[in-house]
Amino acid sequence: MSSQASDSCDVAVIGGGILGLAVARELGRRDPTASVCVLERESRIGTHQTGHNSGVIHAGVYYVPGSLKARLCVEGAREMYDYCEARGIPSERCGKVIVATEESELERLAELERRGHANGVPGLRRIDADGIAELEPHARGIAGLHSPGTGIADFPAVAQAYAEDVAAAGGTIATGCEVQGVSLNGRALRLSHSHGVTEARNAVFCAGAWADRLAVAAGADPDPRIVPFRGAYLRLRPDRRHLVRSLIYPVPDPSLPFLGVHLTKHIDGQVLVGPTALMAGARDAYKLGRVRRRDLTVTLAWPGTWRMLSRWWRTGVTELRHAALRSAFVHAAARYVPELEVGDVEASFAGVRAQALGRDGKLVDDFVFSHTDRALHVRNAPSPAATSSLAIARHVADEAQRSFA
Ligand SMILES: Cc1cc2nc3c(=O)[nH]c(=O)nc-3n(C[C@H](O)[C@H](O)[C@H](O)COP(=O)(O)OP(=O)(O)OC[C@H]3O[C@@H](n4cnc5c(N)ncnc54)[C@H](O)[C@@H]3O)c2cc1C
Repeated sequence: MSSQASDSCDVAVIGGGILGLAVARELGRRDPTASVCVLERESRIGTHQTGHNSGVIHAGVYYVPGSLKARLCVEGAREMYDYCEARGIPSERCGKVIVATEESELERLAELERRGHANGVPGLRRIDADGIAELEPHARGIAGLHSPGTGIADFPAVAQAYAEDVAAAGGTIATGCEVQGVSLNGRALRLSHSHGVTEARNAVFCAGAWADRLAVAAGADPDPRIVPFRGAYLRLRPDRRHLVRSLIYPVPDPSLPFLGVHLTKHIDGQVLVGPTALMAGARDAYKLGRVRRRDLTVTLAWPGTWRMLSRWWRTGVTELRHAALRSAFVHAAARYVPELEVGDVEASFAGVRAQALGRDGKLVDDFVFSHTDRALHVRNAPSPAATSSLAIARHVADEAQRSFA
């Protein structure tokens, strides 16, 4: 599937994650005569966020009604189940419960219920303590929400299938091809990269954690910057997996775009505990403590970082404890699954969220897309962008049809 980058094409898609591949697939479907090439810097597709996440097909409960996330997640989840079925990719509508353990969380739970209904989340319903125990016998709470339409899928396999669709439609995917420079060259964009140069009539940048860097190189405003947040997981030992039937989530803090430490059955049968949400010193901080000078300098030079830290330092300290102390991490999940003990878990993988942070210090909640000459940029596509990938691809292709010369 990998090939040398072509010298020229109609549309170049930068980034071979689930979004770049979905976008390339959609562009190729709409115009089979257009030459589409994907440029991916790693030696394989889907190695960053696409391959390091919870694997959950979100149903659309959390998102502000009317937002892009709300619409594209609900549409995208439906399409994701259909796509997985059509392509024989493992997925399961296992359902999820969101559990409130304290009176103080009930108002936020009610807000989630309101949002879920406004967003058209299928089958969402309020449950009481008995309802929680019926669905998840080892979970405890005073009230909850049940979302039967939430599920799980093998997102790396989905990305692989998108790549096959791209190739079947005549598109090319060049791996080991890092785009280093972007300039306008008359009626084309000149993309310089590790294989040489590609002249593209237009381009769509889907570079995940590096999205801001490429957008700025193409002439876009640096606001918002990407700040990497490391998300580490533990997993239940095989003999304790019975503590979780499907997916159990706490009631999240609505002012943060993270969902809190949750328990999720993975499509391969493991049960994950996590993830943490710790600001990281590198955009590929898969190892705790990995620092890249360039990444850290950009993060620290961004005024939004300091504004965010002054507001959220307490949350930062909690996340640091979760990252450093396994007992604190497990304690967070034991709030709603009280039988859970430190001895029940073992280390698992980590992912790095590409989270946009505004100059004003706000973590950008919604998906963000922007334009430069001859190019579209996906500037913020954190969770649930894997779920929403087919719907995001349609949205981006609509934009491309409107704006590309
Ligand atoms: C811990 C965690 C848990 C999550 N859980 C869920 C979940 O349960 N459900 C859900 O729907 N979503 C979840 N997400 C979000 C989801 O994984 C992402 O939204 C989605 O994968 C974004 O896809 P992407 O293609 O934009 O990014 P990526 O998969 O990161 O792909 C970006 C690609 O761009 C390439 N690239 C970057 N710079 C260049 C360059 N200069 N030249 C060429 N290529 C370049 C990278 O190598 C990479 O392959 C989670 C994310 C994380 C980190």
